[in-house]
Amino acid sequence: MNHENSRELYDRALSVLPGGVNSPVRATRPYPFFVQRGDGAHVIDADGNKYIDYVMGYGPLLLGHDLPQEVQSRIQSQLADGPMYGAPTEVEVELGEFIARHVPSIEMVRFVNSGTEATVSAVRLARGHTGRDKIVVMQGGYHGAQDSTLVEGKSGGVGAPSSDGIPAAFAEETITVPFNDEQAVKSVFEERGDEIACILVEPILGNCASVGPVSGYLETLREVTNDHGALLIFDEVMTGFRVGGLQCAQGKFGVTPDLTTLAKVIGGGFPVGAVGGPAEIMENLTPVGDVFQAGTYSGHPLSLTAGLEMLRYAAENDVYDHVNRLGEKLRSGLTDILADHAPEYTVLGYDSMFKVAFTRRGPRDLDGQCEAGCRQRPECPRFEYCPKDKGDINSAETERWERLFWPAMREQGVFLTANQYESQFLSYAHTDEDVEETLEAYKEAL
Ligand SMILES: *Cc1c(COP(=O)(O)O)cnc(C)c1O
Repeated sequence: MNHENSRELYDRALSVLPGGVNSPVRATRPYPFFVQRGDGAHVIDADGNKYIDYVMGYGPLLLGHDLPQEVQSRIQSQLADGPMYGAPTEVEVELGEFIARHVPSIEMVRFVNSGTEATVSAVRLARGHTGRDKIVVMQGGYHGAQDSTLVEGKSGGVGAPSSDGIPAAFAEETITVPFNDEQAVKSVFEERGDEIACILVEPILGNCASVGPVSGYLETLREVTNDHGALLIFDEVMTGFRVGGLQCAQGKFGVTPDLTTLAKVIGGGFPVGAVGGPAEIMENLTPVGDVFQAGTYSGHPLSLTAGLEMLRYAAENDVYDHVNRLGEKLRSGLTDILADHAPEYTVLGYDSMFKVAFTRRGPRDLDGQCEAGCRQRPECPRFEYCPKDKGDINSAETERWERLFWPAMREQGVFLTANQYESQFLSYAHTDEDVEETLEAYKEAL
């Protein structure tokens, strides 16, 4: 594959953009390819190379790169009426109603402009509502580029910033625990439950190889927060309207949080975010309550039109059936390939999310293992070996994944997310042939 044009663009980019990119994960080595355009389930780079795309904008593009005609024309007609106004518009009410109708925990929403802004607002709201400062997050959870969650630390201990530029005092308000460890979170609440405003958790660790919850874990989070007067916040920025269809991951797993953060899919490819919950909590936000929250672009008519029309399209067509079926097919194909090529590796992911974690150890006998991605079933022969938390993903072959496997897939025309941590996504534009071609590429590259 020739990458000359991308190389030249990257050379120019390095002079004006730190690291040549506007979000660090894009800086693949030795240099990223620059995208010229999308085409269905594919992207075409600046040198004309075509890739099957499983990055899908890191999650938002449920329908792939070609928006259906009716979605496009609604966006264009909104654009013709002017991009935004600083006054309310009907589309905010309509998307709000749509979300409230489908997502179990949500009665009211506040729209913002990104996933980061959604989690910032949700944490402030939880603190304002409870009058408490401490928050609990998962090791390996990701809630955007915000100060209070860019924190690392020992289980249950005081956190330290995971980035320069964040005061240690901010991180001291954040307690980290390992995902899937019921005892760890129970101990934290026994010790200081009355200081904790909320648990902020992705129902699936989508930014940590898509590790799923062991049965009963999300229920435990629900119980401890209830028992101690803290809020449970599901960060569904990635899983919202992606896993569990229109009811989101909370519907799929049957656990209803107090607050939910959304972004990605609900913007139809445009910048957006949202916090939702019951009126009793949501009405703490200004202008009704005293928790300040505001934004010039919030409820942006173009983003909300794109999101609403995309979700309506998904509700009226077989979008979720299609992406979930292809997800099953891809994950079960990968499971079969691994049995031959790398039996110690683990297939992860739900519905239209997937990832292969390069775990180092596996069972001798794979009989009866989960067929289409780890379901954290205690009866599965892989259960003891399959990743449960961030530590398990850190100790997998992350370097092999990133330095050897990712470029090998790219050279075969398959665009995966840049490291072992980020999830990958199917879209409505992917076909059975794309999946079959992808499985062949995995066979080669593993
Ligand atoms: C992507 C993501 C975010 C951050 O959203 P941005 O729009 O990138 O700010 C937060 N939480 C989760 C779970 C995400 O996947």
